[in-house]
Amino acid sequence: MRWPLIIPGKKLNAMAVVIVLVLMGSLILSVFWHGSTAVISRLSGHHVVVIDPGHGGYDPGAITSQGIYEKNVNLQMAKKIRELLKPAGIEVKLTRDEDEDYVPDGVRGKVTKKQIDLNHRINLAAQAKADLFVSIHLNATESGRNSGAETFYHYKSGEGKKLAEGIQEELIKIPGMNRRIAKPGDFYIIKNTSMPAVIVELGYISNPKEQKKLVQSWYQDQLAKAVAKGIAKYFGIP
Ligand SMILES: [Zn+2]
Repeated sequence: MRWPLIIPGKKLNAMAVVIVLVLMGSLILSVFWHGSTAVISRLSGHHVVVIDPGHGGYDPGAITSQGIYEKNVNLQMAKKIRELLKPAGIEVKLTRDEDEDYVPDGVRGKVTKKQIDLNHRINLAAQAKADLFVSIHLNATESGRNSGAETFYHYKSGEGKKLAEGIQEELIKIPGMNRRIAKPGDFYIIKNTSMPAVIVELGYISNPKEQKKLVQSWYQDQLAKAVAKGIAKYFGIP
């Protein structure tokens, strides 16, 4: 027995219309849904990178006799790198957006304060479900002779090594830069982050010649581009 035979014609037509409408509706919805998720994922990025401007607040990092504070240059650089990664669809979060630290009032002891501050940054990266963690610093030595950028990864992290090498390869393309390769290290922040992590020392503010460049916009732009390119390369984004 064919079922349409027992259903009155009008009812059958109404049902057919409902079925067609439901099918069309779900098709349209599905197109919109996939379309919108594609747009959303392109806008927010499949990749999340936490950029950590080293030091801040009570902790200035290295200071030069000219009154340049490492923490301030680190923050400028982190913001520049963030802007460059946005068009690549990479979501960037900074561990700090201003001159601040994460040490509650009343905490004493240099080492304790530093550890609390670093742990907070490590936790921020974990909460952000970051794919990568990039800590930005400037170097300094007593002699003032050293110059150039250095990138460190945790010696046990293969992915950290890949990221560090990618960034350092771009940094050494900058005219006048040294030819260093990425180095393994055992620093607290790259050891304790739960995702591949690197420390990028963008240059030596203890070197008079390099110090002058490090505070200039054109040179900062070159450094930022190199770091951003290294990060994008890690994700296979040209
Ligand atoms: Zn530093």
